Amino acid sequence: MIGGGISGLSAAYRLTQLSPGAAVELFEAGDRLGGVLHTHRDGGLLIERGADSFLNKNPCAFDLCQEIGLADQLIPTNEGQRRAFLLCRGALYPVPDGFVVYRPQRLGPILQSPILSWWGKLRLLSERWVPRLPGIHRADFDESAASFAIRRLGRETFERLVQPLLAGIYTADPYQLSVAATIPEAIEAVREFGSLRRAALRAGDPENAESSGARYASFLSLRGGLVQLIQALAGQLDASCCHLNAPVRALRQVENHSWLIEQDDGTRRGPFQGIVIALPAPRVVPLVSQLDARLGELLARIPYASSAVVSLVFRRDQIGADISGFGVVIPSVEGRQIVAASFSSNKFSGRAPEGQVLVRVFLGGALHPKLLQLPDDQLCEVARAELSEVLHIRGHPLSTDMIRWHEKMPQYHVGHVKLVGEIEAQIERWQGLELAGNAYHGVGISQCIQSGENAARRIVQVGL
Ligand SMILES: Cc1cc2nc3c(=O)[nH]c(=O)nc-3n(C[C@H](O)[C@H](O)[C@H](O)COP(=O)(O)OP(=O)(O)OC[C@H]3O[C@@H](n4cnc5c(N)ncnc54)[C@H](O)[C@@H]3O)c2cc1C
Repeated sequence: MIGGGISGLSAAYRLTQLSPGAAVELFEAGDRLGGVLHTHRDGGLLIERGADSFLNKNPCAFDLCQEIGLADQLIPTNEGQRRAFLLCRGALYPVPDGFVVYRPQRLGPILQSPILSWWGKLRLLSERWVPRLPGIHRADFDESAASFAIRRLGRETFERLVQPLLAGIYTADPYQLSVAATIPEAIEAVREFGSLRRAALRAGDPENAESSGARYASFLSLRGGLVQLIQALAGQLDASCCHLNAPVRALRQVENHSWLIEQDDGTRRGPFQGIVIALPAPRVVPLVSQLDARLGELLARIPYASSAVVSLVFRRDQIGADISGFGVVIPSVEGRQIVAASFSSNKFSGRAPEGQVLVRVFLGGALHPKLLQLPDDQLCEVARAELSEVLHIRGHPLSTDMIRWHEKMPQYHVGHVKLVGEIEAQIERWQGLELAGNAYHGVGISQCIQSGENAARRIVQVGL
């Protein structure tokens, strides 16, 4: 196993379950396991420096937590405040209930919301009469999130609602982001019913459909932070087989389809019957390029964005704005430097002491890469100053924590689904070599777990 993030750990755990006698070894470049899952405790604060929760739509994370004894540690989002805000012309408004990324499930709340002008609302209402693109019936149809949303919903809905919600998930440039790879059900809806609105009507009474509040009920975390998942998985592995500070720099296939790996310090390990590479695509490229130049070239076509998370703690009475929700997303048209902010202590219990508010501010991503060139103190100051304006905060934070995530978020550009198909066809040429991680079939924790578990199953199938 190469990579000790959630993908690599899930693969290692599943392998030990499927093949109890197998000697599983895991090589992690850093000095801790978990990758982007990184819980930091500081006095009464529980700060998630990376991911903070998982969506239960794909059940893999939930099922894994149950399986490894964490069922009683799972916590839902706090019930009272299940909504998010959106910055619009400098003011905060709730994201209209029932607007889920591209899908205007319920029109009532959107029509009542001041976020869209009357022209924008009329354009949104006309979505059911926008014709299908002729090519949409092709199995490999794809286009950018921006062109899809602008054509179907209108530019204003795209700029004011779709773009910030997508940026909050993928930190992506919507003019490059693939609809087929990120929300294939939107294409399917138009393909089958002719419009997103008609699809919502067919699915049942859309005015009672999944509201943003109901959707937030599907987000889960763990009482002691997501580090519990990492610790529980690591606890299932033989400690002597988890190698930290052990970056892998090369792979070699030797006789009988077995594999050797070479670490940065020149140490060779193996032979292994199977290898799962559970790394971000830019880290896989140097490992496989000598082995298979075409595979390396295909993987290099998956770009990654970098970001930073600045966690700020305030006394509740310092904050002037109504923040009774889980966070705020900020449309690019607002001209701000921050992408979004999550009100962590509202979202989950036990994140900050009574009377204090923990806010995580997201910066960078595909739309603001240059911002990350700033030194740490200036980046923290940008986060503080912008957040203070948006939330009307008086005075300085009680504490500040910051982390950078270099090339951690894959950008699923138009053509991603086809590209992943080519990568998978290419890797099939190498018996016992598997890929897992967020580069291929989804960035969420559940999808990463699924990718790791599937890689383990394939390794077992070829006869570990
Ligand atoms: C800021 C942020 C917030 C997020 N929030 C959420 C969220 O709330 N919910 C959600 O579902 N998803 C979220 N995501 C996405 C999700 O967390 C990630 O997609 C997922 O954790 C990736 O896991 P991974 O194991 O594939 O990769 P990583 O976590 O990147 O792990 C890869 C590991 O490999 C190691 N490594 C690198 N090179 C080598 C090498 N040569 N040899 C050995 N080891 C190496 C690294 O040190 C790292 O530990 C977020 C992502 C980011 C960046």
